[in-house]
Amino acid sequence: ALSAVNISQAFGETTVLHGVSLEVARGEVVAVTGPSGSGKSTLLHLLGGLGQPSGGAIYWEGVRVDQLSVEARASRRVRALGLVFQHHYLLPDLTVLGNLLVPGLILGEDLTGRAEELLTQVGLVGRGQAYPDVLSGGERQRLAVARALMARPAALLADEPTGSLDRANADRVARLMIGLAREYGSGVLLVTHDERLAALADRQINLLDGRLAQSPPVAQTLTAAP
Ligand code: ATP
Ligand code: MG
Repeated sequence: ALSAVNISQAFGETTVLHGVSLEVARGEVVAVTGPSGSGKSTLLHLLGGLGQPSGGAIYWEGVRVDQLSVEARASRRVRALGLVFQHHYLLPDLTVLGNLLVPGLILGEDLTGRAEELLTQVGLVGRGQAYPDVLSGGERQRLAVARALMARPAALLADEPTGSLDRANADRVARLMIGLAREYGSGVLLVTHDERLAALADRQINLLDGRLAQSPPVAQTLTAAP
């Protein structure tokens, strides 16, 4: 699991996250929604170990990581997390297959077999020797999803992964990402403005001005005594 415990973040005088706690279990899909500026990307960055919170703690698979060095976090991140952003961040000088093999190079494992399997699963079979610049926007995002799953991470963190796609492609990429994450045993934290995509999640959480407005689980609502 991936968890944030009571994290806060201040930039100068302004506090943009106020004691947020959440957990994403393996295989669980959680959507984060909320208005622009509510702190969604900040929360995702901190969960991804891409910055240090002003307060609170981040755990990947039970290991506290926010106090580790940048290098120690980076080496753990490969197994703990797959990251998908609105812009794909593919490496333009590597082929499609080359991009997929990067996580294996970092881990010192030959993941060619998994790369071939993922290329088939994301509909890019036969495109392994192409370069990212010849792919369509939807194909690039599908490749970014495939790369994020290469090391079977505990969770995918996705910040508006379909934000640059038209509706049909956005649906395809989101459904593909969620379906494959379930198959590969990875949780998903999906930041999205799109209510239709948020509805694909097992659970939705809403950020408002840096605070979580979380609706209680259905079972709890049904059994709550007056
Ligand atoms: P959007 O839906 O528009 O992407 P968001 O919910 O992702 O918005 P964040 O990007 O997390 O919002 O930003 C939350 C607040 O924190 C904003 O007011 C933003 O200006 C501020 N902020 C984010 N990063 C920094 C930074 N590095 N320095 C100063 N302020 C920042
Ligand atoms: Mg954002």
